[in-house]
Formats: sequence, structure tokens, C-alpha cells
Amino acid sequence: MSTDNNEEFRDSIGTLTEDGKREWVYPKKPSGALYDYRKWVSYFLLTFLFISPFIKINGNQFLLFNILERKFNIFGFPFWPQDFYLFVISMIIGIIFIAFFTVAFGRVFCGWICPQTIFMEMVFRRIEYAIEGDRGKQMRLSRMPWKKEKIIKKGTKWTIFAFISFLIANVFLAYLISSDELFKYVQEGPLENLGTFIPLLIFTAVFYFVFAWFREQVCIIACPYGRLQGVLLDKKTIVVAYDHKRGEAENGRKKFRKNEDREALGHGDCIDCNQCVHVCPTGIDIRNGTQLECVNCTACIDACDEIMDRVDYPRGLIRFASEENIEEKKPFVFNTRMKAYSVVLTVLVGILIGMLFIRTSVEAKLLRLPGQTYETQKNGNISNVYTYKLINKTTHDIDKVEFKLLSHEDGQLKLVKGANFSVPKQGLSEGTLFIEIPSNLIDSELNDVEIGVYSDGELIDKAKANFMGPRLFK
Ligand code: SF4
Ligand code: SF4
Repeated sequence: MSTDNNEEFRDSIGTLTEDGKREWVYPKKPSGALYDYRKWVSYFLLTFLFISPFIKINGNQFLLFNILERKFNIFGFPFWPQDFYLFVISMIIGIIFIAFFTVAFGRVFCGWICPQTIFMEMVFRRIEYAIEGDRGKQMRLSRMPWKKEKIIKKGTKWTIFAFISFLIANVFLAYLISSDELFKYVQEGPLENLGTFIPLLIFTAVFYFVFAWFREQVCIIACPYGRLQGVLLDKKTIVVAYDHKRGEAENGRKKFRKNEDREALGHGDCIDCNQCVHVCPTGIDIRNGTQLECVNCTACIDACDEIMDRVDYPRGLIRFASEENIEEKKPFVFNTRMKAYSVVLTVLVGILIGMLFIRTSVEAKLLRLPGQTYETQKNGNISNVYTYKLINKTTHDIDKVEFKLLSHEDGQLKLVKGANFSVPKQGLSEGTLFIEIPSNLIDSELNDVEIGVYSDGELIDKAKANFMGPRLFK
């Protein structure tokens, strides 16, 4: 780990030794106000993640991403491939949201919301502290030979890690194939469902590898969002930052000595205790400035505030601030840029929520049969033939379905298979229908028609199509 105070820049990541080997990070157990807030955020998010596939709304799983069968439920609303446009719009909104959010507030998402950090820091790392102890004890244990104590502690830890990884893989499976299917597979046993059980074990192994060994390397070298930081952050971005003006002053940082007039000696408020370095889960020294490894977890803020309290200096030597705040010695303010970005972010989320709610749960499509032209009936009516598709996205059957021609009162609509049919839940019905309109109501070659779809006499959707008529010579 690079803790050299004279380090001015690095051309390699902070967890690599000079000879290119991995420097294992043993972060000190964090404590403090921000860590307590993070715990509450993580309890909420973990609960949400673990219970979402097991909650049902109107019979629909709350969150479901069944890619293989193309079934998706978001907040209990079923989505069909026909709703793909919503997915594309959500993706676009998501990308804009991430970019705006990061430009304004830095990598706060990584430290506080990202599942990787939450599982690593709030689940696996806490188990590690409970079994192996804090930083010093962990380092000692690692140096110990493989004798009873080390075998028991490491063995217990790895067994618990494997069990939790298996649990996480099961929850992810419930998101993918539905919790009902998962329970069915559990009852039937793994041997009956080897095609699912083997991928489940592979995912368990991946989670185990990530949380037991790969750890902070995910955020540093694997995560594309982390790699984007370099282009998204600027001088105005709020990040976890060390106030070097205050910490270094004219003559730099220096160990604390009681009754010493540091101000007169020109030393800054940093007492070079290295607590901010020891607590960092990505193994960096935030005093070297904003670095790509920093996930904004705020552990160093808590650690430094505790030291500042002990030496009776004001808190906030490490704090949320922009480079500009620190250079110009300005306090953190919720500036116009942040307000503007927050408004845009709120509007984007509002649009997405609005679109989710106005989306219909029944979708009717009407298409004139390709290659067919109009027909003139014996009674003089003009007739066109159509195919229709009625998609039922709800979790109940739609019964007694009939179609009515809304656009032309004197016209007629005839369903080939007859009216009063049913569309099964989460299913569709297709068929052919004829629309006949008196020729005196047709005033051009191409006319608009609109049909209403009724279930048990109640209008549930409308669909439009064009209606071909004879060419009129005026
Ligand atoms: S530098 Fe501070 S905020 Fe950044 S990862 Fe390390 S402890 Fe967390
Ligand atoms: S915890 Fe604060 S005082 Fe200690 S080394 Fe870090 S910045 Fe300096």
C-alpha cells in the first residue's frame, strides 16, 4: 500500500507493489457518524434486494428480469417485449442520470449504494472483523503459520463466505427465473434440475471469488463506471477531499506534540497519524488528492474527524468538498449547478415514473392484411380485412372480449372467430376481422378507422388503422 508522504504521483494503482504484486489491503474497522448512516442505508438496500423477488403485487413478482422467457416485472408492473421502448428510454435516462449525478456529486453512488461496496464493506468485511479481529490482528493472522488458530479462523470465515455467496446466487436466480420457480426447484432437489443448479454453483463461485479475494479490485480495475470518473469529474465536483491548504499549511504536516505552537511553526492541521490511510478499503492515501481508487466511502472522513476531536482541532480536514472549495477556501454550498442538475435529475425520474404509470396493461394492434385491397359488397358497402393482436399484460384472464367500430357509426365490424372470446392472463389473442363501411361515407382512397376493445361491456383499449376505398375522380 502506498503510504509514502512524498508520493506526488503514481503511474500504477495503489494496491500494486513495486514488483507488480497485489498488495493486500487490511482496512481498519471504520466507525463514526457517516459509517453509522452508511449502515442504515445498507440495511435498507439489503432488505430491498433480498425481499423484492419474494413480494407479489396483484400476483406479479415485484421485480423480475426473466431474460430467457422475456418476462419483466418492475415494481409489480409486468413488461412485455412490446414495452421495449420503455426499457430503451429508461436506459437513456439512466445514462444521463449517472453522468449528471457524477459530474455534480462524484462517486457517492460507489461508496453508499453500489451492491459491490455494500456486500463487501457491510456484510463480508464485518464478518471478517468479527472472526479475525481488526486490521492489526488480521495482519498478524496472515503472517502466522498454518496452525490451529489460523485454520479455524480462516476456515470458519471462508465457509460463511461460501454460504452467503450461495444465498446471494439464489436471490439473483429468483430475480431471473422467478421466486415461484426457485421454490419449485428447491422442493424438487438439485439432481432434478442440474441445468439450473450448475449455473447456480458457478455464480456462487463468482461471488465467492469477488468477495473473498478480488474485493476492491472490482472498483479499481473492473467496474466501467469507476473508469469513467476521470472524464466526468471536474474542479466543481463534490468528492471526498483532503483540505491540503489547511492540512499542510506552509511547512507541511507533522506529528502532534502537546503544547507546540504549530501555527507559529507553519505546520498544518494534519498530524500525520495515517488513520485515514489505515481505514481506506481501497488502500490509498486521500492526502495525495482525488484518485481513481477512491469510492467515496467516507471512512477516512470519520477517521480524521475522530482524530481532530482528540487533538481539539475543528473537524472537516477531510470532507465532502470540491477542488475549487478547497483552493478558494470556500465552505461547501449547494450551488446553482447542483440545484440545476438536481432539478434535471428529478424531472428525468418523474418522466420515467410517469411513463410506467401511463403504460396500458392491455394492448390492441390492428393491421390491414398486407397485399389485400378493398372489396365492394353487393349492398354497396366497402370492406377491408384486418389482422388484430390483443396482448393481455395483466395477471387475470380478460373475458367476454368484443370489438366495436368507433369511427363510423353506420359501419360494421365482423370478427371471424366471433365475439365474446377470452384472452388468457399474460397471453395474447390473434385473429382476423372485417370492417365494412357504406361507400357514401368513404371520401378518399385512404381513410382512418378506429376500433374499441371491450371486455364485459367496458372499453379497455382502442386501436387505429387505415381503411382503403376506391379512387375517387373529381
Ligand atoms: S480515500 Fe476515503 S473515501 Fe476514498 S475510498 Fe479511501 S476511505 Fe473511502
Ligand atoms: S487522519 Fe487526518 S490527521 Fe490523520 S493523517 Fe489523515 S488527514 Fe492527517
